[in-house]
Amino acid sequence: MASQTPPPLTDVAIVLVAAGRGLRAGGPVPKQYALLAGRTLLAHTIEALAVLGAPIQPVIGSGDAALFDAVLATLPASSRALCRPAVVGGDTRQASVLAGLEALQPTKPHIVLIHDGARCHPSAGLLTRAVEAARLYGAAIPGLAVSDTIKQIDAQDLVIQTPERATLRAVQTPQSFAYSLILAAHQRAIQKKIDNLTDDGAVAEWAGHQVHVFPGEATNLKVTEASDFAVMERLMSADLSDIRVGQGYDVHAFGSGDHVWLGGVKIPHTHALIGHSDADVLLHALTDAILGALADGDIGSHFPPSDPKWKDAASDQFLRHDVELVRNRGGIIAHLDGTLICEAPKVGPHRDTIRANIAKICALPLDRVAIKATTSEGLGFTGRREGLAAMALATIRLPYSAS
Ligand code: MG
Repeated sequence: MASQTPPPLTDVAIVLVAAGRGLRAGGPVPKQYALLAGRTLLAHTIEALAVLGAPIQPVIGSGDAALFDAVLATLPASSRALCRPAVVGGDTRQASVLAGLEALQPTKPHIVLIHDGARCHPSAGLLTRAVEAARLYGAAIPGLAVSDTIKQIDAQDLVIQTPERATLRAVQTPQSFAYSLILAAHQRAIQKKIDNLTDDGAVAEWAGHQVHVFPGEATNLKVTEASDFAVMERLMSADLSDIRVGQGYDVHAFGSGDHVWLGGVKIPHTHALIGHSDADVLLHALTDAILGALADGDIGSHFPPSDPKWKDAASDQFLRHDVELVRNRGGIIAHLDGTLICEAPKVGPHRDTIRANIAKICALPLDRVAIKATTSEGLGFTGRREGLAAMALATIRLPYSAS
């Protein structure tokens, strides 16, 4: 959240490893692009890392550029600005990390954090501990004491030995290093054809460095299985416990013309709607509903009709602005529900297109956008076909703050 953002760390950079091909159970895209609590897993991860204010070097899978660009488009401008152009990873995790480290060479960081895209919930405290540990020790990894007894087994599932539990740690990311140390270790490992190391701590160990373990955190889960998504969704929902509903209402009168704009979709009609902007009543009602949920004025205060800038403006930008406001508060839009009230044009044939367009504008899954239409049975101004009205509700979730 913006209020917690410390001053930028000028000598720290982050390698974000998101090149994996693992699919969420049944999912069509690599799991880092699957949706979790209304956003992609990777968007949550980048937002969590952005708290440090350090540049982020994403490493993505080949062919994932469009998916990654879509993730960037859902980020607040301040987080997006921290992301360097993504580089494409290699066949192994080591190769991907090395690609990220080498891409950071022009920025000459002293400290680098290496973080898995699938860990979307590292706290600001954990990130700070990682930076401090790297400054002190040169190579450091977050670890948790294990509560289960761990057995080493052979290929026949027979126990070979039982390591002493008190000496074991389950390690996580971000792992943190002096940049020159870990870059050299990775380069040497690849030269020596060592490519099966599963974390960067192991690369540093292999290169002969002492690796310090600092406290990790239980909520810094690696989201891999479908069940992990459910657990993380519950965790993140608990963070977004300030649930608000806002309403919006708008009317525009019919005048001469041959089309109307509804939900950002151009619909042929015998009349146009008259307004300072494109007079898209549905987008205006939705814009006001979100502003209502934020308790942040109304469409007129954000986009004054007195400002010539908004003359004939396409109204999707008003809604996009709201989406950005919600993101800047660390929140999500949980649901949008709009109703159009008119005798004509007939909305039914366009409803799916309108719904899909609003979902796209707000970067929401389709099942979080509802669009309905009704007539007013010939009564009132809508019944007399003098104008068109729209009502909307927006449900948003924000981090709970006592202020
Ligand atoms: Mg309006």
